[in-house]
Amino acid sequence: MFHENMKCHMHAAEIDGANVHAMDKASAGRTSPELSAANFARVLGHPLRISVVRLLANRGSMSFTSLMEALHVSQGLLGNHLARLLDGGVIACQKSGRISWYSVPDARIAEAVENLFGAAGAAPMKPAGPPSGMCFARRCTDHVGGLLGVRLLDWLIRNHVIALDGNDYRVIGAAGRFEPLLGDVMHIGPTSKKIAVGCLDTTEGRDHLGGVLGARLLSGLRDLGWAEEIPGSRTLILTCRGVRQLSDLNVIDASEFPQQDFGDGVDAATEGAHDGQ
Ligand SMILES: [Zn+2]
Repeated sequence: MFHENMKCHMHAAEIDGANVHAMDKASAGRTSPELSAANFARVLGHPLRISVVRLLANRGSMSFTSLMEALHVSQGLLGNHLARLLDGGVIACQKSGRISWYSVPDARIAEAVENLFGAAGAAPMKPAGPPSGMCFARRCTDHVGGLLGVRLLDWLIRNHVIALDGNDYRVIGAAGRFEPLLGDVMHIGPTSKKIAVGCLDTTEGRDHLGGVLGARLLSGLRDLGWAEEIPGSRTLILTCRGVRQLSDLNVIDASEFPQQDFGDGVDAATEGAHDGQ
């Protein structure tokens, strides 16, 4: 089951799975479930490869770049380990345009990896945890990218503020409950910038919002104290107030954000804990 050889990556330089091939050859004609299981364990036998599988299992699918950013590893190192995982059929890869999307092809693989932690007596993975990091929200030039960016765009479409018009979006109604973030969208003065354009999100594989409205969303989130950018990174973190407000607006679900843990050192818990609801 884990023998599928799928390679569509462009970055993987070398495959350090030579011994797996040798083993396959040596035991040709004598495949056994034990051999398959041993090969599977061998392919997984590196902390970084385990991290990759867990990350992909949690996120669904990710591009090479987003994996590199999330794991803080070099292109070469990640490429080698991805090649090993692909070669062992533990992860799969699908090309869409110029981007390769990596994923875990079988839920049993993710389950097996999680079970390894229990069997090893290692601390279990933090259950789901609040959405965070570059994949959740990041600054993309002057607007919001990541899952949050995609959800903000969805909200504006769902609430008839903007609509797709050719390759861009056009304003079709007032910002309504988004006015604190966007201001008056019906009377935007002359600008050399497009009002609302889609920007392909590398981690979501869909558009988030750029243009004048995209930039207003980002500055609105910051000015209202709903989001902060981690210094030296493009990662955006929601403050407690931001979680509450965006949850009230049905952009996100506050239950995804446990009160205690906002991660990454932003002093959000303190900010929101004392100002009542
Ligand atoms: Zn963008």
